Amino acid sequence: MTDTYARTTSAWRNWAGNVTARPVRAVSPASVDELADVLRKAAEDGLRVKAVGTGHSFTATAATDGVLIRPDLLTGIREIDRTAMTVTVEAGTPLKRLNTALAREGLSLTNMGDIMEQTVAGATSTGTHGTGRDSASIAAQIRALELVTADGRVLTCSAEENPEIFAVARIGLGALGVITAVTFAVEPVFLLTAREEPMAFDKVTADFDQLVAENEHFEFYWFPHTGNCNTKRNNRSAGPAAPPGKVSGWIEDEFLSNGVFQVACSLGRAVPGAIPSIAKISSRALSARTYTDIPYKVFTSPRRVRFVEMEYALPREAAVEALREVKAMVDRSPLRISFPVEVRTAPADDIALSTASGRESAYIAVHLYRGTPYQAYFTAVERIMTAHGGRPHWGKVNTRDAAYLAGVYPRFGEFTAVRDRLDPDRLFANDYLRRVLGD
Ligand SMILES: Cc1cc2nc3c(=O)[nH]c(=O)nc-3n(C[C@H](O)[C@H](O)[C@H](O)COP(=O)(O)OP(=O)(O)OC[C@H]3O[C@@H](n4cnc5c(N)ncnc54)[C@H](O)[C@@H]3O)c2cc1C
Repeated sequence: MTDTYARTTSAWRNWAGNVTARPVRAVSPASVDELADVLRKAAEDGLRVKAVGTGHSFTATAATDGVLIRPDLLTGIREIDRTAMTVTVEAGTPLKRLNTALAREGLSLTNMGDIMEQTVAGATSTGTHGTGRDSASIAAQIRALELVTADGRVLTCSAEENPEIFAVARIGLGALGVITAVTFAVEPVFLLTAREEPMAFDKVTADFDQLVAENEHFEFYWFPHTGNCNTKRNNRSAGPAAPPGKVSGWIEDEFLSNGVFQVACSLGRAVPGAIPSIAKISSRALSARTYTDIPYKVFTSPRRVRFVEMEYALPREAAVEALREVKAMVDRSPLRISFPVEVRTAPADDIALSTASGRESAYIAVHLYRGTPYQAYFTAVERIMTAHGGRPHWGKVNTRDAAYLAGVYPRFGEFTAVRDRLDPDRLFANDYLRRVLGD
């Protein structure tokens, strides 16, 4: 148990750099027993506890001034069950390690988000999602999880065991205990053909329902200050695999999406007046392309330009109207927005605090380059989203409180009742949870 009780003097920061915390100590338990010990000791010392993943949340959901539990030593694949078609992984395993290990075994998750840097527990705890007509978030692919609760008990939760906890704990915001292992449904690895294509804003919004209905995974980016969008359709394919060429792939994914984009964002931050012109050029720089590859290579891509983000889930049928309102708001405001707005979808799912809980959803995500003041833009967008009954992504900037959230989540009380039972003394509380869940 080398550094399990190592004291920390340095501050913890999230990926975006907009959240800083100074825990009393940071620990890296290597087993469930060591973790139970950490929880006991924290309670004795009167300290609160927070498990972190890779800090990719834009909210203070993982921040603590008590004991920070790092995921580093709780990683790896525990078991692959080819009869049940499941994989069980340690909670701190990065998604990229899970994806590559599964691919080596000829297996894959069904759907995933835009990147794969996060840990499995961190990603699922805030409801990380990609886009899908039929397939939902990463948490919706969980078949069981192992949870160490405030009293040191180790609970296995699934549809059969502790089903009332399973119903809420797949998206648990770190409020119910520390997850130590996650079992996901897997399927034989398959190929996806991606079709990326520029499209006019008016056309995408007019055809949105049809584009969603005709594709397994449809998403688009709208470039503020322009009428231009980039669309992406991913559909299963019989093959053969045809990955992007090394050079053209590098030009699109690294040079344009990261390198040139970084320069454009820096320039825009220094000279905001230039942003509309830059947006017109950069929205035309990405060209149509088609490629076929295994799922994680199609769904995810590197994001090296740092940003802050707000994302809201809306009832699917409200998305186009809300997006038009965002466009109108940007057009008549002095705001200068260098980052595209991302639109994705999800089917309804059965997890209490999932942003798609019980309703078919569309997501609208707004971003700003790190270091750009974001309050004015995000406040204006949040006003539009909440007018449509929007549910904020738990890991992305929002200002909602428990009273609002109880109104948009019909099963909010089911979650807080389980929280009251599992963590009556609020060992796992922090300021963020106090705001969004209540005391
Ligand atoms: C570049 C970038 C791209 C992104 N793309 C997407 C996307 O495509 N789709 C999307 O939905 N989101 C996306 N996100 C948001 C991100 O997926 C979520 O915020 C996710 O929760 C981050 O995972 P993490 O491992 O960094 O966890 P952290 O941010 O460190 O923690 C998140 C939460 O999980 C809890 N937690 C962590 N480990 C445990 C554990 N073992 N037990 C209990 N609770 C735990 C923490 O306490 C905290 O509440 C993106 C973020 C970035 C920075």
